[in-house]
Amino acid sequence: MTVKTRFAPSPTGYLHVGGARTALYSWLYAKNQGGEFVLRIEDTDLERNSQQAVDAILEGMQWMGLEWDEGPYFQSKRFDRYNEVVDQLLAEDKAYKCYASKELLEEIRAEQEANKEIPRYDANHPKIVAANAAAKDGDPCVIRFRNPKEGSVVFDDQIRGRIEISNSQMDDLIIRRTDGAPTYNFVVVVDDWDMGITHVVRGEDHINNTPRQINIYEALGAPVPTFAHCAMILGDDGAKLSKRHGAVSVMQYRDEGYLPNALNNYLVRLGWSHGDQEIFSQEEMINFFSLNAISKSASAFNTDKLNWLNNHYIKTSEPEYVAKHLQWHLDEQELNTENGPAITDVIKLVGERCNTLVELAQQIRYFYEDFSEFEAGAAKKHLRGVAKEPLEAALAKVEALEEWTTDNIKDQVITAVCDELEIGMGKIGMPLRVAVTGGGQSPSVDAVMELVGKERVIARIKMALAFIAEREANA
Ligand code: GLU
Repeated sequence: MTVKTRFAPSPTGYLHVGGARTALYSWLYAKNQGGEFVLRIEDTDLERNSQQAVDAILEGMQWMGLEWDEGPYFQSKRFDRYNEVVDQLLAEDKAYKCYASKELLEEIRAEQEANKEIPRYDANHPKIVAANAAAKDGDPCVIRFRNPKEGSVVFDDQIRGRIEISNSQMDDLIIRRTDGAPTYNFVVVVDDWDMGITHVVRGEDHINNTPRQINIYEALGAPVPTFAHCAMILGDDGAKLSKRHGAVSVMQYRDEGYLPNALNNYLVRLGWSHGDQEIFSQEEMINFFSLNAISKSASAFNTDKLNWLNNHYIKTSEPEYVAKHLQWHLDEQELNTENGPAITDVIKLVGERCNTLVELAQQIRYFYEDFSEFEAGAAKKHLRGVAKEPLEAALAKVEALEEWTTDNIKDQVITAVCDELEIGMGKIGMPLRVAVTGGGQSPSVDAVMELVGKERVIARIKMALAFIAEREANA
């Protein structure tokens, strides 16, 4: 049997991290089993669905790298098939038309409540029997599934274990509404059956639907898939994850500067474990993944841990991979990197200092653009009269340096200035850093100088000297 899993979002909004994690687990399981992953858009609720939401979901899945082997299928294009199955169930008397009006059902419900009974649909209620007897063909009706009355439904959830629900707790589910629209619990079964889904991985919010769906599979003579219901994701305060906690849409994580590999690694660990390993390459995730190692309990989102992982991925990924995702932020921040060092070299130097790509994009501007002012605090502290002589000495050595490498800059400029003037490293290092980068924080200044380039370094030291001269003149 080829394993086939699916992700079946309803396009009512963006791809939420909860949905993204479900999609990831479903995808990982398919890959782990050498199986296939299907994407299905559950867009039967025409009022709540939008094309924008479909696009947002596809964009989120693509950004995460969760490629689907089949689909996307759209439920809205499958109504003929659903009607065909409804007709089959009607013909086999496994479903029936019910003409009871909404008003009548409400009246019965009120009676049941008054009698302290659990309100539920009862096909044998005399008023419903009477309404159905009086109806004529063509009158508005719903189609209901004839749920078994006896026994119970048992299934072995891969995450939650054995679950048993008595049929006496389930009423006859509406499978097609008066307006002709088939309902979720029905179409999901037809789809999973038609699409050959062997494993349904989905959110815990659907666990109560599963016994009803199993009864429908059985009525259709369809194989019942294996189920795995994932617990919720909570915010770090223990409340259900919502916008209040910050980003909840996958694309918002892109906007905030996370790498998809870091988010995937974060999400896989949020509710699944393999020993105490925290960092997983995609290959390891696929090889180690199993449904029964997913946790039963809800997981709390922890942004600090995500930041830690993102920093790890920025630091250790191929610079080309980081560059590809950084480009979006460079465009956002309008930073053109054509006039300057190779972006991959800059990433290798600066990346480890950043938790996000937003920070990285902010911190590398001076490699590509000249600035007209130094950062006030850094200049005040480091571009003072005492820095004049060391900077002048450095300028002369920079101008004379033929082979522009980090090692030569270190030995023949910085160390040489210290030796010549008999000063400590700090007396030249900091003024040079402020001169070359405009601010007081950067990676090792020799390496920065190499990438900034000789011409720019010369111009910037001259600018720093002019700044000091002006400051002294005004003092
Ligand atoms: N469309 C449902 C949702 O977005 C998921 C249904 C399922 O996975 O069975 O919640």
